[in-house]
Amino acid sequence: MYTSFNEFGISDKVLIALSEMGFEAPTPIQQAAMPQALKGKDIIGQAQTGTGKTAAFGIPLLEKRPEMKGKYPYAIVLTPTRELAVQVCEELNKLGARTGVYTLPVYGGQSIELQIKSLKRGVDIVVGTPGRLLDHLQRKSLVLKGITSVVIDEADEMLNMGFIEDVKKILGEIPAERQTMLFSATMPKEILNIAKNYMGKPVHVKVDAGEMVAAKIKQVFYEVREEDKVNALTRLMDVEGPALTLVFCHTKKEVDEVSGKLQQMGYPAGAIHGDFTQNHRNEMMRKFKNGDIDVLVATDVAARGLDIPDVSHVINFSIPQYPEAYIHRIGRTGRAGKSGIAITLVTPRQYGQLRLIERSAKTRITKEKLPTQAEVKKARENDLAESIGEVITGGRHAAFYQMANALIEKHSAEDVAAAAVYMMLGGEKIEEIEEVRGGGYEGGKKDVTRLFMTVGRKDKIRVEDIVRSIAAEANIPARKVGNISIYDTFSFVEVPADLADRVIHAVNDSIVKGRKVKVSHAKSKR
Ligand code: ADP
Ligand code: MG
Repeated sequence: MYTSFNEFGISDKVLIALSEMGFEAPTPIQQAAMPQALKGKDIIGQAQTGTGKTAAFGIPLLEKRPEMKGKYPYAIVLTPTRELAVQVCEELNKLGARTGVYTLPVYGGQSIELQIKSLKRGVDIVVGTPGRLLDHLQRKSLVLKGITSVVIDEADEMLNMGFIEDVKKILGEIPAERQTMLFSATMPKEILNIAKNYMGKPVHVKVDAGEMVAAKIKQVFYEVREEDKVNALTRLMDVEGPALTLVFCHTKKEVDEVSGKLQQMGYPAGAIHGDFTQNHRNEMMRKFKNGDIDVLVATDVAARGLDIPDVSHVINFSIPQYPEAYIHRIGRTGRAGKSGIAITLVTPRQYGQLRLIERSAKTRITKEKLPTQAEVKKARENDLAESIGEVITGGRHAAFYQMANALIEKHSAEDVAAAAVYMMLGGEKIEEIEEVRGGGYEGGKKDVTRLFMTVGRKDKIRVEDIVRSIAAEANIPARKVGNISIYDTFSFVEVPADLADRVIHAVNDSIVKGRKVKVSHAKSKR
């Protein structure tokens, strides 16, 4: 058994890098795969997400560097996404920092000229996506005749229909006398059979075969109706207080919609999918890793391989279509032994799909109840109370004593504190949000008038629609429109008392979302 990196017989240069990276002991897949890989064996390596498969093939690749720097690359790693190519390359550069091995990522969306220049200057290991690699092969800017090792990361995805033709072409350019290594957390039988066509006699190295999902990932689901999903998503985020959340959607359009709504509601959210430019995708990844945005909404482009240490929550806004996709998506959390939470939103019609995932992934996903509005409110208040306590113990508020004293001269301390809390929780916005999210508002302000409108949820009306049409028809600023409660067939809207008649006059009989509406003074305040 190899319980320390020292026992593999690898070079001091890599050992030092490992200790600088804080790797104390090899992970199980590293223990099992590295000795075989170092011997030059063909390998099919399978281990749970986040267990260090990159270093399991990366260290042996670095150790295989030829004595003399060659003209052409000696190793190549294929990845399904651009982001993963960049990440694998970064890990190889860290592991190989002292070895002089130069690793280059080669992927679409980045200037091909720059890549050609780098390739000309001489690259030892190329990490790339199939499309761009083929492009270079055609231009002859990439030559694979010096390759002695090939790694196919996320191999089951790469040998799947979408990629197999390109991968075949690339493998065809590589000398048959080579080491071939395939890695993934999932390896369906059909794919395994295909894989064997491209390898000699592979050693199948499989870790933790019983459990495909890391034990430290807590898996739950919530039953929600399609139309309540965004609401459920925000409630969960409010109550769970995640560090970083990765939200997976089914389509690009859904990614746009969900990220747009989250931004509207004030959540620092970003989005990535295949239609964005590579610059945008890189920028989003950077912001997400730095915590400049807390929520990243993505399609399955972000499902494979990405290693972002602080992702505490993965939320399947839409249930994944395949069990493998589920395993990879939720595997973006709970990495390198950390814990994580995986949440799946399931509509009543999707129970079958959920059970199928549970069966194939050999896992249990337990049902939980959505937090109520009151719980959300409580969670926010607790959060704030905790932060206030921390500020006080940290003494970071000292600069504001003067202002506090001035306020206390005019008002009671209790009033000052309560008002500050009100503002910190979003001020007028909290009331609006509570209304929108279904309740709690007591009403009773003097200077506003409550109006009754004959459109409601059944008309697919949204708060924005009402605000927009009132602002436009009555020609008043949108911020003057106050709390809105939408019921099934009607809604209540609060407007400043002095503008009420103007709004009624302008909006009554106008068309909102294709429906003629009646507007009148609300009969009574509940
Ligand atoms: P996988 O490919 O299996 O999903 P990665 O190779 O992306 O996992 O590794 C997951 C994380 O664990 C990375 O941040 C990596 O740097 C870290 N890691 C890998 N090996 C070790 C180790 N032996 N000790 C500590 N951390 C490790
Ligand atoms: Mg990986």
